[in-house]
Amino acid sequence: MRALQLIDDRKLEQVDIAPPPEPGIGEVTLRIKAVALNHIDVWGWRGMAFAKRKLPLTIGAEASGEVDAIGPGVSGLVPGQLVSIYGARTCGLCKACRDGRDNLCEHVGGVHGFHLDGFAQEKINLPARLLVPAPPGVDAIGAAVAPVTFGTVEHMLFDNAKLQPGETILIHAGGSGIGSAAIQLAKKMGCTVITTVGSDEKIEPAKALGADHVINYRTDRFEGVVRKITKKKGVDVVFEHVGKDTWAGSMFSLKRGGRLVTCGSTSGVSTEINLMMLFQQQLKLLGSFGCRMENMANAMQKMAAGLVRPVIDTEVDFQSIDAALKRMEGRDVFGKIILHVG
Ligand SMILES: [Zn+2]
Repeated sequence: MRALQLIDDRKLEQVDIAPPPEPGIGEVTLRIKAVALNHIDVWGWRGMAFAKRKLPLTIGAEASGEVDAIGPGVSGLVPGQLVSIYGARTCGLCKACRDGRDNLCEHVGGVHGFHLDGFAQEKINLPARLLVPAPPGVDAIGAAVAPVTFGTVEHMLFDNAKLQPGETILIHAGGSGIGSAAIQLAKKMGCTVITTVGSDEKIEPAKALGADHVINYRTDRFEGVVRKITKKKGVDVVFEHVGKDTWAGSMFSLKRGGRLVTCGSTSGVSTEINLMMLFQQQLKLLGSFGCRMENMANAMQKMAAGLVRPVIDTEVDFQSIDAALKRMEGRDVFGKIILHVG
């Protein structure tokens, strides 16, 4: 069967590998339906010294699959069923996992597509406990963007930042996969949404998703515009994932007691923090990574109810993967790039 593997930095190859064996106890064989690309794929492709991994590595950190075969001891899944796949290999036994907080697992075995073989392959065996069934009304693409895209955003906004109806939120990079999800989720709960984009062409699509104010960060200093929009008060919450380039402005955009939640650092991982601003303004800085499986289920329920939808930039096959990753690296996308395996 076919798989897409990283052979070396910036070098991907389609290879033939052996299909998985019969599923073991507690396992399911999945036929992969759709893979969604993320910045973690761009990092992996560029080659990042901090990642412990062995090459070749099958890529793909976020995907949906259809149940193909069921191993002994698995209940609640049937052949043909569409599922969303949790992206990290968590233990299921530690207190965090038993409490449903897999992203705090004490014995996590790694992230698929980054430390471990990922989902860009025709079939894979996985523990059934890491699969979240897609409800009726959610298709393969919706289920594919539930773990890393919508799940991450649900966890950031609701578990960590505890976003409330009526609050004002600044969402960085509204054209990114997580930005486009955050705009919809915040707007649908009755928040005022300010977002940034990197080109004028992205302004109307961001408004169409529900953004009340859209700032082109290349032509305007976003923190100045945010102060103006909020009449110098600042926002309740900043949704960060850009990092170095935006950090100081993000802190400056918060109101007293405001919350900054971050899940990424696409422009650089180190920055300075104005500590006086942090304590005098009583700001809360919240780190967020991954999600709980319940976040994935909640996101898919909202998709099924028509409240939110995956925003798709393009759908590509294995042959077009290099061009797709280059476009993501250059931030030349609006929404998600979907990789089809079949
Ligand atoms: Zn665990």
